[in-house]
Amino acid sequence: MMMMSSTSLEAVEGGAAKAGAYDAVAVEARWQDAWSSASVFATPPQDERPSSYVFAGCPFTSGDAHLGHIRSYTISDAHARFLRARGHAVLFSLGFDSFGLPAELEAIRRDVSPQAWVEECCTRMRGQFEQLGYSCDWDRTFVSSEPEHYRWTQWLFLAMMEKGLVYQRDAQVTWCDSCQTVLAALQSEDGECWRCHGEVRFVRRPQWFMRISAYIEDNENGLEDLPGWDKAAVGSQRAVLGRIDGVEVDAVVLGGGELPVFTPHADSIADAAFVAVSPTHLEVDSFTSQPEVAEQLEQVREAGWRRDDRGVERAQVVQTGMQASVPGASSLLPIVISSLVDARFGPTAVLGIPERDETDRGIAERLEKSAGTAWKLTKSNAPPRPAARYRARDFPISRQRAWGAPIPLVHCPGCGTVPVPREALPVSLPDDLQVSGDGNPLAEHADFLECSCPKCQGPAKRETDTIDCHVDGMWMWVPICVPAEDRSTSMFSHPEFQRWLPAKQIVWGADAGGYMFDQRLIGKVLQDLEELPPLEAREPFANALMHQMIRMDGRKMSKHLGNVVDPNELIGRVGADVVRLAVLNAASPGKAFNWNDQPVRHCQSFLETLWDYAEPRLREWNQPPGGEIDASGRLRRRLSTWCRVACDKITVNLEQLEMQRATHNTMLLLTRIQGFEKRAVDQRGELDDADREAIAAALLLLVQMLAPCTPHIAEELWAVAGNETLLSATPWPADDES
Ligand SMILES: [Zn+2]
Ligand SMILES: [Zn+2]
Repeated sequence: MMMMSSTSLEAVEGGAAKAGAYDAVAVEARWQDAWSSASVFATPPQDERPSSYVFAGCPFTSGDAHLGHIRSYTISDAHARFLRARGHAVLFSLGFDSFGLPAELEAIRRDVSPQAWVEECCTRMRGQFEQLGYSCDWDRTFVSSEPEHYRWTQWLFLAMMEKGLVYQRDAQVTWCDSCQTVLAALQSEDGECWRCHGEVRFVRRPQWFMRISAYIEDNENGLEDLPGWDKAAVGSQRAVLGRIDGVEVDAVVLGGGELPVFTPHADSIADAAFVAVSPTHLEVDSFTSQPEVAEQLEQVREAGWRRDDRGVERAQVVQTGMQASVPGASSLLPIVISSLVDARFGPTAVLGIPERDETDRGIAERLEKSAGTAWKLTKSNAPPRPAARYRARDFPISRQRAWGAPIPLVHCPGCGTVPVPREALPVSLPDDLQVSGDGNPLAEHADFLECSCPKCQGPAKRETDTIDCHVDGMWMWVPICVPAEDRSTSMFSHPEFQRWLPAKQIVWGADAGGYMFDQRLIGKVLQDLEELPPLEAREPFANALMHQMIRMDGRKMSKHLGNVVDPNELIGRVGADVVRLAVLNAASPGKAFNWNDQPVRHCQSFLETLWDYAEPRLREWNQPPGGEIDASGRLRRRLSTWCRVACDKITVNLEQLEMQRATHNTMLLLTRIQGFEKRAVDQRGELDDADREAIAAALLLLVQMLAPCTPHIAEELWAVAGNETLLSATPWPADDES
């Protein structure tokens, strides 16, 4: 028991204080059971209340939950709890992102099947989330590697293929040698593999691509019109688009053909020194008529972004020997091929202007002086036309690994490539799938491989590539909306899905801009497929918050760096409420913060103080909830005003997901209530009945304000005050009109 203040209950008539130590872990487990048996977080049927869907992503099943998850889900859980109390019908849950390389590699390392490993992760992570008191409707959860789930990934693949949004081409793709897989653009950064940080290179092979380029403008147009998105979320979408504004002119290639070339420097076209074409430009092969040039281009493709080649001095610059006449340029310009174009402008052709661009200067220094071919420069009157380039581009979605949704296609010697009929989905992975690390076990699994052609019924072989788990992530916000028992027959056109759109609130970590972009795209694809009726502004998410990362010693937390906080140890030591309060109170969601013991100690001390102060007072002086504070007398009037102001502020804070302010204002209210008691005793020698009632009413209000953030201790104090209904099922205190 902590020391009571000078105004402790012992001094108060009848105050049989017996405030014991607060056993967080026991109390928390008890309330979690109570919530579960009362089904307070079950998804409500549609009624007159607003339907509000809160979604914060689905964790990868590659191990334990980490603090980044805890930050995302605590912010979104607090908001979901707040919305429920405010009278919304709330959908809040999460699924598990269980396909893909990390899970596969971990299964190999542990020498278990990927199914067994994923199941273990799901059980453990769900246990952690339950321990943290997240108000998830677990009846709505899902695991993306379950056949009843990935049949819809396959369905989406086929529907998008029919619309030309998924297409195959023999293409140069980014390849990681150590992971033996093709990487999506998002999975490689500066020539490094996202997972193993090894160098990546280009190889050519037939690949399925997702045509996100068809939605670039759609996803950009919407951005002006998203009042409920915070700056970071909108900014992340602009970063993914990678839009560069400039002008375009038509170069005339000597020897035939026109080539639109782009530059962001409209006023410096006269200074252009060369034309640079990306090796991924659609027409790049038309510049390789000379065999040695074709050979060099092949080398660029083979070598790709070798790590030491990335600098401008080392990157390959293929001189094609061809020249172009560019309107506005002062001389004929040599045409070069270089991957230095891609990272800056995408798969395009650009003017090299050394005066304006350091990379261009580097390229120019390496060019042989051309022999000054005699050629009449194009005298064009056409002014340069405004144009833009985007770094966002179509990305490959097929993988040569087994732990993913099989691509639902069949190769028939007579009919060619035949899609599996929708009613025959899912194409399931073998139950006895084992992964070893080399090659693709599906290609060696006869039961999987051999099949009959859906068209001619003759013997055929299944496609053995699987769909990249990035595609799973693109629609992972959908399944939660659909009751689990209906998912085997209906998904994207289910009325419950439509009911929850647009989602009331999305909460994402700062590294999820690419996922968000592609999820918005899928929302638009589903409207264009007429699975979904048109949404306002075509956007599936009404409000979006992008929170920053939690760091450790100034660095990103990662297993790789060995600076990961173990959430189990932390929760076991201080309890879930302290952990929740610490991640909310340490910084506003928009700010990164460095993890250390300080916020934990601060929040633990606050909750101890709250318990020691509030528990005996609420028990002895219990008040019906929503009780008016007798505002006669100057001190009580002031307390009443503080309560009203705190309630107003915290309501706005929680509405706007300003959780740090919400917790700060709640802590402040406790200080004010304690201050009131001290002054009242100082002035009058002891508290009167109206004072005691005022304190109990103020504390009860505080407990309600705190419930979204630290629900267990709030529930306990609520019960201590004699309330027989669950606080988690109690309406928010009425707004005071005054
Ligand atoms: Zn790799
Ligand atoms: Zn056939």
